[in-house]
Amino acid sequence: MMIGIPRERTAGENRVAIIPSGITELMEAGYEVIVESGAGLAAHFTDDEYRHCGAIIADDAESLYRQSQIILKVRAPEKDEASLIQSGATLICILDPWFNKPLLEQLASQSVQTFALDLVPRTTRAQSMDVLSAMAGISGYRAVLSGAMSLPRYFPMLMTAAGTIHPARVLVIGAGVAGLMAIATARRLGAVVEAYDLRPEVKEQVESLGADFIEIEVPQTDSTGDSGYAKAQSEEFYKKQRQQLSDCVARADLVITTAAVPGKRAPQLIDGDMIHRMKSGSVIVDLAADKGGNVEGTVLNEKVDVDGVTLVGHANHPSRVPVHASQLLTRNITGFLFNMTEEGKLAPSMEDDIVAATLVIKDGEILHGKEPKKAE
Ligand code: NAD
Repeated sequence: MMIGIPRERTAGENRVAIIPSGITELMEAGYEVIVESGAGLAAHFTDDEYRHCGAIIADDAESLYRQSQIILKVRAPEKDEASLIQSGATLICILDPWFNKPLLEQLASQSVQTFALDLVPRTTRAQSMDVLSAMAGISGYRAVLSGAMSLPRYFPMLMTAAGTIHPARVLVIGAGVAGLMAIATARRLGAVVEAYDLRPEVKEQVESLGADFIEIEVPQTDSTGDSGYAKAQSEEFYKKQRQQLSDCVARADLVITTAAVPGKRAPQLIDGDMIHRMKSGSVIVDLAADKGGNVEGTVLNEKVDVDGVTLVGHANHPSRVPVHASQLLTRNITGFLFNMTEEGKLAPSMEDDIVAATLVIKDGEILHGKEPKKAE
C-alpha cells in the first residue's frame, strides 16, 4: 500500500509527520512511501534524505494525494486539501474532532476512513503512540523558555560580588504532562516552583520534581473523569478557585497555565483582577491560548501587555522545536500504524481498544462522539 506524507499547510506549522528514518521502518513493514517535495524542509529534513531512505518524491500535493492510499499528517487538512484525498483512502492525523465537525462531515461524504491521533487512549499499551503526551512535553519545556526570555529578571539564585540575586518564583497551574515538564524545566533553571492542579493525585509527582503543591479548599464534583482527564467544573467553582489562587499568582514572577478539559473551552484560571495584583514585569504563559485561554486578556499567537504584565499567548509550541517534535511524532505515528498492520496492509480491528478509540470515520459514517477511554 502507498503511504503519502504531505507538506503541512497550516500557517506556522514546521513539523512533518514522518522523518526520513521513519521511511525506512515503513518500507521494512511492507509499505511504499511517497513524500511531497519540501515536506520536511521546515523541520530541516531534505528531499534527498527522504529519497535516500527509499521514498518517492511527489512534485505537488495533487500528485501525492492521487497516488496515496494512506495519508499520514500532523494537522487536520483544510477543506481544499481534504478534497484531494481519494475516496476509500485512510487519513491519520491530529484531528481535534470536537472542534472540526464540518471537516468530519466532508471526510465522511468522501468515504475517507479517518483516525484521530489525539484520541489515542492514555494507557500503558498505547504510550508509544501518545501524540498528546509527546507534544505536551515539548510545550511545557518551551513555555518555560518563552517565559524566561520575556522576564526582566534572572531565574537562578546568584551570589555575586555586586550582590545577591533571589531566584525567580514560578507558578504552574495544571500539572498534567505539560505542567510537569514545565516544573522540571523551571527547576533546572534554578527557579523556586509552586504548582496546583484540580486533580489532587498529582501532588506526589509535583513534589518529586522539587516543587511545592498548592492545596486549596473549594468543594468540587469529581475532579477526574473516567478517562483520567480533568472534569469540567461549575462556573461557581472556577470563581472560588480564582479567589483562592489569587495570592499565589500575585507572588509569582512567571505563571504557566496548562489547564484543559478535552472537548471543552479551557477554564478561566486567572482574571483581570488577579493580573492587576501581579508585580510589573511579571509574565504569564497561557498554554491553553488556542482553546480560548486560561487567562483573561490572552491574545492567540501574540504577546500583550496588561498592567505591566506580559501575557504570552503562543499556540503550537511544539512547532518551534520541529526536529525533535517530528522525531517523536514519527515514533508515535509509525507505532500507531504498525499496531494495525498485517502483512504490509492496513487491517484495523474494532476489537482493538486503540483502533476503537481513534477511528472517527468508517464506511462514510462518523463514529466520533464517545468519551475517551479510561487511562491506566
Ligand atoms: P490535559 O492537557 O487535559 O490538562 C492539563 C492539566 O490541567 C491536567 O493535569 C488537568 O487536571 C488540569 N486542569 C484541568 N482543569 C483545571 C483547573 N480548573 N484547575 C487546575 N488544573 C486543571 O492533561 P494531560 O496532561 O493530557 O493529562 C491527562 C490525563 O492523562 C492525566 O490523568 C495524565 O496523568 C494521564 N496520562 C496518562 C498517560 C498514560 O497512562 N499513558 C500518559 C499521559 C497522560
